[in-house]
Amino acid sequence: MANASIRVRFCPSPTGNPHVGLVRTALFNWAFARHHGGTMVFRIEDTDAARDSEESYRQLLDSLRWLGLDWDEGPEVGGPHAPYRQSQRMDVYREIAGKLLDGGYAYRCYCTTEELETRREAARAAGKPSGYDGHCRELDPEQVSAYEAEGRSAIVRFRMPDEPITFRDLVRGELTFTPDNVPDYGIVRANGAPLYTLVNPVDDALMEITHVLRGEDLLSSTPRQIALYKALIELGVAKTVPEFGHLPYVMGEGNKKLSKRDPQASLNIYRERGFLPEGLLNYLSLLGWSFSADQDVFTVPQMVERFDIADVNANPARFDLKKAESINADHIRMLDVKAFAAACEPWLRAPHAPWAPEDFDQAAWEAIAPHAQTRLTVLSDITANVDFLFLKEPVEDEASWQKAMKEGSDALLRTARATLEAADWTSPESLKDAVLAAGEQHGLKLGKAQAPVRVAVTGRTVGLPLFESLEILGKERTLARVDAALAKLAAA
Ligand code: GLU
Ligand code: ZN
Repeated sequence: MANASIRVRFCPSPTGNPHVGLVRTALFNWAFARHHGGTMVFRIEDTDAARDSEESYRQLLDSLRWLGLDWDEGPEVGGPHAPYRQSQRMDVYREIAGKLLDGGYAYRCYCTTEELETRREAARAAGKPSGYDGHCRELDPEQVSAYEAEGRSAIVRFRMPDEPITFRDLVRGELTFTPDNVPDYGIVRANGAPLYTLVNPVDDALMEITHVLRGEDLLSSTPRQIALYKALIELGVAKTVPEFGHLPYVMGEGNKKLSKRDPQASLNIYRERGFLPEGLLNYLSLLGWSFSADQDVFTVPQMVERFDIADVNANPARFDLKKAESINADHIRMLDVKAFAAACEPWLRAPHAPWAPEDFDQAAWEAIAPHAQTRLTVLSDITANVDFLFLKEPVEDEASWQKAMKEGSDALLRTARATLEAADWTSPESLKDAVLAAGEQHGLKLGKAQAPVRVAVTGRTVGLPLFESLEILGKERTLARVDAALAKLAAA
């Protein structure tokens, strides 16, 4: 199984916020590398100064680190093929574009946008392929001089071979592209700027990438890249053509492709809501892959142990937020309680927490944490679940108040105050018995009797187990809150 010569790459462009599609690609590459004991290369494709940003670059690094998807070569880590930011490799691309031109693998194309458009329209009208027609493939020196004299500038275009290109996709099996479908394509802009079409395969070649695992949206560039690779091999720049595996589309709401701009697609949202990295990775791995027929929840090491690109399914995967949340909830349960308490910390402090830092009580938190751990879906929910412990007064949730405080609630609360005052505050059972007894006096079952108590003490109708909550809050504060609720009812 182990194959240390395997080298994969994750090579995003630093534009916008990281999104789940990007993370899925990073994850599959990473799992493949780790499974085989190979090398994960992280490269930044920042050759588009107009769209790339330093902020997005920072976020990419930060997101991968948060997720625990580490890299063996790349930014801030270095490696034998440094630099790993394409903006710092421009001389490499210039040199290779020169070699491709000199070797006849590429040529200068002087066609203007208007000319290309006119000929494309004509080809379309005639029912012919409408890609580039090879106009500048064999220009003679006089034509070139004439164009230059006119002051035209030229792009560099790669010459596609005239035969079909076939390769075996690791996910989709054998695929063939005919020349009609893959015309000669630009690799360097008229202003000398190299394009993705050049820099991506050139770096894959120089960085000795063995497997390219990426989204299906890039499938159409694969035959071009294979042809370019073959030229690079003949030029002595590349060793072998890598294998390709195209990961299935991810569908969002309404069965439309999940787009970068969908709010559901933003990685930051999951992070802010308190998904655990391992929960999110577990879920994202299921977008195109499965662990086993009857198991959806697994750890990251378990995934790595099993991951095989051959098991990736070519059919579109559906992004299902409910399922993501339920898997995350399972991962929350899997933490040991100390790790859980630590993971919640950001939500127990400003700016998430509405209480003053000095009102946070570590002992109370440790006592309540195990009860919260079995109930949370996302960590950010912790704030509202435990705020009754740290706020001076419980939150005022009008809807909860209206729902719980009925005719006779004041009488019930007065009785409950007395039974609670007499109870043994070292056990939740005794507090439960106290509320049960109060309810009996008013002909109320426990559920009905505890609702006004819960709202008086925590402000809400739903929350963590009530009697444990009361015990942790303590007798004095509990009774004071019941008194405050009674006063409010009396004033109403
Ligand atoms: N920078 C490209 C992108 O983000 C990488 C595509 C590839 O994996 O080849 O779309
Ligand atoms: Zn041309």
